[in-house]
Formats: sequence, structure tokens, C-alpha cells
Amino acid sequence: MASNFFGYFSNDIGIDLGTANTLVYVKDKGIVLREPSVVALDTTTRKVRAVGDEAKRMLGRTPGNITAIRPMKDGVIADFDVTEAMLRYFIRKVHNNALRVAPRVVIAIPSGITEVEKRAVKDSATHAGARDVITIPEPMAAAIGVGLPIDEPAANMIVDIGGGTTEIAIISLSGIVFSKSIRVAGDELDAAVVNYMKRAYNLLIGERTAEEIKMKIGSAYPLDEELSLEVKGRDSVAGLPKTIHITSQEIREALSDTIAAIVDAVRTTLERCPPELSADLVDRGFVMAGGGSLIRGIDRLLSEKTGLPVTVADDPLSAVANGTGAVLNDLNWVMQNV
Ligand code: ADP
Ligand code: MG
Repeated sequence: MASNFFGYFSNDIGIDLGTANTLVYVKDKGIVLREPSVVALDTTTRKVRAVGDEAKRMLGRTPGNITAIRPMKDGVIADFDVTEAMLRYFIRKVHNNALRVAPRVVIAIPSGITEVEKRAVKDSATHAGARDVITIPEPMAAAIGVGLPIDEPAANMIVDIGGGTTEIAIISLSGIVFSKSIRVAGDELDAAVVNYMKRAYNLLIGERTAEEIKMKIGSAYPLDEELSLEVKGRDSVAGLPKTIHITSQEIREALSDTIAAIVDAVRTTLERCPPELSADLVDRGFVMAGGGSLIRGIDRLLSEKTGLPVTVADDPLSAVANGTGAVLNDLNWVMQNV
């Protein structure tokens, strides 16, 4: 696997196959693509109508003959063919459809995935035009991507809150000592907002609007200055479009049970940690990655609930992709460790 004579022309890529977003890292270039992991299909022919950004715009707005789906939604592959079509589209797109030399591909996959699914991802990437395909667990890629010294004999802990899953892992000597993946993350927070609006205001809103509310005013900890927002949807009683005003306090309350489940998972992981590594964590704390780490105050809440120092990665949405990029530069490392 050492870099060969043609290394200079390398078009090797790293892929963060996320439940919400797929990112592609091209060696020597960096992240060149970030698009939602969404595919729009023709309902009858199952033909792919759109992928990524274009498909996400269709979510919740499709006529009967088109369905927009998220093939990785819960951190497992819901549909192999669709996942393959999506991977092919993204791999081709970053190479402008001109695959002169088949790229080597490093793919970060959710740690809860089964062997069968892992095999399917590898096959999909091969069918999509890849030469060698190496998969690495997402939390490992995230830890590398945020720059944790994972090869040291010490605890490196990462908490990655994505769309479908929250992945928590403790890594030492380049190996995962303990990891936990729960299907509670950004999507569940969106669902909590949908439910709250229905319960409190008889207002029906879509998932995309709920996500927008979460991003604009969502929080896990009281804010120095609370926020408010105008929300539009459909009144479930009158059946007509309606506009209401909501506050960040209300949304924090709406999100609190889901956030408590994430806090719980982090605490359980800490309880399972071997004592020497626990001792390391007292000083080193943990790093947060994934889009969910951008919820206001979630770092502060987790720090309070665990007693550990918590840092949010500089660019949490890019951590995993950057990790796959780092791995591309050191494929020998991967052969030994993953
Ligand atoms: P995945 O790795 O599962 O694809 P990502 O790490 O890309 O997920 O994160 C996507 C999730 O992060 C979505 O649920 C999205 O709503 C959420 N997210 C992104 N930005 C923010 C933000 N500023 N505040 C709160 N949540 C956010
Ligand atoms: Mg992710």
C-alpha cells in the first residue's frame, strides 16, 4: 500500500458516509463535497431522480410519484441499492465524471453497523468505481480528524452527535477501548420540536422547519440572551396556514428529554471506562464533533453532568471527513490498526 510511482496523480478519496450528510475529501485537496445523504426516487420505476442537496429540497414536498429517502437514516443501511446509487453519484461528482484511475477509498461508517452492512458498503463503493476500499469506524475518524493523539497509551474520548446516531468512543493506542452508538441525535431533536409545536400550538410543521427552529434557537442550557422566532405551519384544527412566535426557553424544554438521553449515554460510557483511562479523562476531558455539538450550551451541560472538561471541535461537521483525509495520507497506518 505504500505510495507508488503514480502517487502524484492520486485521486484517492475519503468519505464520511453520515446519516444526515455525506462529505468527500480528495487527497491533497481537502473536503470538496458536502451534501445531504438523501436520494429522491421515482416511486414506480425506483429510478434515481436526484441526490444530495437537490433531493433534500424535495423532502416533505414530493408528489406521489417521487419519494425522497435517507438510506443511512438510523445508522444502518435501510436500502443497499439506494446507498450504492448515492455513493456512485458522489464519487463520480468529485471526479467530474472522469475516473481515469480508480480511486482508493477510505469510508467512515457508523460503529453500530453490522459485518453484512460493512460488506455492502464496500461492495457499493467498488461498484461505484473504487479500487481498494477501507472502512474505518466513524468515531475513530472523528478522533483523528479533531487531532486527538489517538496512538498514545491514554484515553482519547470523542462524542459525535450526528443526525441519526450519537457515537461515543474511548480510544487508546489507536484502538477503540469502548464505544457506544445510540439512535438518538439530531433527527430525534427535530421530532421533539414537531411534537412540541403540535401539542402546545396545534401547529403542524415539517421536519425541515423543525430542524431550522432547532438550529436557529435550540439550546441545551439557559442562554445569556434568550431568543425568539416566528414559525409558520398548518393549524391542525382549522386546517389553515398559521404563524406563531416561540421562544428559546420553550424549545429548550421541548428538546430536554432527548438531550437527557444523550447525556445518559455519555455517562454510561464513562461508567464502563477502565480506571486508568478514567483517570486520564479527568484532565483531558472529551471532544465533541458532529452537527449536534452545535446546539447552544450542550458542551456546558455535558461538562456539568460529567464533571469533565468538554471542548467542541473547531469544525465539528468536518471532523470525520478530515479524519478520513488524514488516513489517506497514511494508509500503512490503517493496514496495521483498523
Ligand atoms: P451525520 O454525521 O449523521 O451525517 P452531521 O454530523 O452531519 O450528521 O450532523 C447533522 C445533524 O446536525 C443534523 O441533525 C442537523 O440538524 C444538526 N445540526 C447541524 N448544524 C446544527 C446547528 N447549528 N445547531 C444544531 N444542530 C445542528
Ligand atoms: Mg457523522
